[in-house]
Amino acid sequence: MQKNVFLGDEAIAQGAMDAGISSIYAYPGTPSTEILEFVIDSIKTRRHSIHAAWCTNEKTAMEAALGVSYAGKRAMVCMKHVGLNVAADPFINSAITGANGGLIIIAADDPSMHSSQNEQDSRFYGKFAMIPILEPCNQQEAYDMVFYGFNLSELYGIPVLLRLTTRLAHSRAGIIRKDTVEQNELHLPADPRQFILLPVIARQRFKALLQSQLSFIAESEKSPYNYYFEGDNKKLGIITAGLAYNYLLENYPDRIVPYPILKIGQYPLPRTKIERIISECERILVLEDGYPFIEEMLRSYLNHHKIIGGRMDGSIPLDGELTPCKVATALNLPTCEGSPIPSIVRPRPPSLCKGCPHIYSYNALNEALTGYSKGRVFSDIGCYTLGALSPYHAINTCVDMGASITMAKGAADAGLTPVVAVIGDSTFAHSGITGLLDAVNYKTPVTVMILDNYTTAMTGGQPSAGEGKLEAICLAVGVEKEHLHVLSPIPKEHEKNTEILKKELAYNGVSVIIPRRECIQTATKRLREERIEKLQKQEA
Ligand code: SF4
Repeated sequence: MQKNVFLGDEAIAQGAMDAGISSIYAYPGTPSTEILEFVIDSIKTRRHSIHAAWCTNEKTAMEAALGVSYAGKRAMVCMKHVGLNVAADPFINSAITGANGGLIIIAADDPSMHSSQNEQDSRFYGKFAMIPILEPCNQQEAYDMVFYGFNLSELYGIPVLLRLTTRLAHSRAGIIRKDTVEQNELHLPADPRQFILLPVIARQRFKALLQSQLSFIAESEKSPYNYYFEGDNKKLGIITAGLAYNYLLENYPDRIVPYPILKIGQYPLPRTKIERIISECERILVLEDGYPFIEEMLRSYLNHHKIIGGRMDGSIPLDGELTPCKVATALNLPTCEGSPIPSIVRPRPPSLCKGCPHIYSYNALNEALTGYSKGRVFSDIGCYTLGALSPYHAINTCVDMGASITMAKGAADAGLTPVVAVIGDSTFAHSGITGLLDAVNYKTPVTVMILDNYTTAMTGGQPSAGEGKLEAICLAVGVEKEHLHVLSPIPKEHEKNTEILKKELAYNGVSVIIPRRECIQTATKRLREERIEKLQKQEA
């Protein structure tokens, strides 16, 4: 039996490959990025036995995975929690179409917002879609659950959501691998109308989804991931979900917890097990990372008038990542704060790399806007968001992928001119193009800067879907040729760049400025790889 030490993300990736996936799609987003990277680097992908691809955005990734499932093969799609908002349309509808080949959607949540705009909990999306949800408590479960999830998906013809959080995605542990499963043969859905969501069909499919709920609950009742641990002290019963189970055990070094524990790893909730712990114990403590998802249900439709502790009564803070220390506090145990952090690893404010091309774009923009009142620059999500910080103070917003252009349009519609939208090349392809089309259609006075560094830099340098096509895309959606400029963001071009920006800020229509220079990090990596390749050729 093969043993490996894997990140949670890598365990999922290896699990998918061992469980017979044919295709995997994703848009990069922390903390989910490493799943697809791991599959892309695998021998199976390099030998073309698995199709692994970065997509333009999470919606296209979700739809491609649904297409693979339609064709009868196993597919996985991976995203961070906010990516599930982008994929929400096909995600929710996939619960109605159902799956043919096994389909698993990975949503990696980021409690405490280590690198995200919010803390949203993807379990609500799974419940909203009414599909089974899996939530691993460690790397081994993350690996095993992929096999289990594909089987569940194919048994009920339903997509399965696998939710994990940052700490599990990005920490390592040993896992034991299973025997590899062969990929499915191509086979189309038995019901040829299954994937046609015309209302007359969708209504039938929705009824079938509702009827499946009892089966999903029955599966949860017998799931190996929903486990009831006996405990002598019935003054308290603890319900844990996902990683919280590990945090609970960490507070008991001998792993002997005196209270009954219900460990949840599969949803919908196993009602019988929930009712057992509620009836057996005097009060309940709910430990879950994210929103009070289980706790809310216990306090409403499962309300047995027991005292229920968790995030909603302040036993655990309502916001932020769950930690072993927070669990200790909730259990009145001594907290386990570690040693003080040495000064050399003290947190430092994030900043653009020295020599980053965005620095020179922002210097020119700030100078071009001199003389105008503040608050005119709408930005987006990427390294360039750091332009909000000192010393640049160059941007005023960052809301979601693609919001820069559409928010700038709204502000211009409200009468604020000039306005600027700043967006990266990858984000522009992800969800900026349609906003630009809106601005062009209404001839909105907005200056759009597409900061082109040839990559998706913030998540580690994945390819950018619009590479080599940005000017063609802009012209195709109707940007006028004379108001489309490509700049070189380097110090010696500063005066020229500033003048072009000033001129376009004064234009009463849509202008697009593309400052273009490779990200320093990807350039360094590329040059290093080229040097190694050259040396290898010389030695051969
Ligand atoms: S990774 Fe690249 S784009 Fe991001 S700050 Fe560094 S140089 Fe700039």
